[in-house]
Amino acid sequence: MQLASNSQRQAGLAAVLVNLALEGRAGGRSYSGLRERALRQAFAEQLHAPMRQRLLSVDDAGARLYSVAVALRPVFEAPDEAAAAKALNNLMRRYGARPYLVDDVGQPFHLHFHGDGETDVEALAGEFAVSLALLMDTFGTRRFGICHAKECDRAYVDVTRNGSKLYCSEACAARMKMAEYRARSNRNR
Ligand SMILES: [Zn+2]
Repeated sequence: MQLASNSQRQAGLAAVLVNLALEGRAGGRSYSGLRERALRQAFAEQLHAPMRQRLLSVDDAGARLYSVAVALRPVFEAPDEAAAAKALNNLMRRYGARPYLVDDVGQPFHLHFHGDGETDVEALAGEFAVSLALLMDTFGTRRFGICHAKECDRAYVDVTRNGSKLYCSEACAARMKMAEYRARSNRNR
């Protein structure tokens, strides 16, 4: 079973936003998080052109994006399914997500779940909440979470076919592989 490609993409973007905005540890280094115009610019670069333009035209998009990132983070940190469901239900309600079919970005008609918030940022937030909820509906919570690598707290979404992702990035996966290898060779000495 696979999610519609739009939902897969939006769920991935939710993790990207959380990781750009929020401070913490990224791949073994401390990360201070982006704010205001820097956040708006960096996140806009991840979007299809029409949505990028809409986002860049929201004056205080950076502050709004930051608040969405803060609201999304508990979904990735949820210790169990009940906590994840509660967080996602709260988000869908908060951003007033509602389904409708559109044929934008040169794609055949597909479902969007834009929130009915004040600006395009809250509209996107509705999409993020529903796309993560759909992921949970299909796979439970094992398809999103916090990177399992040491010294990293970045969010990840796993839309791979076999769903075996544990790390936020190839870099973290490689780092942990190396750490395991070292631990093994120390034991064998
Ligand atoms: Zn990581």
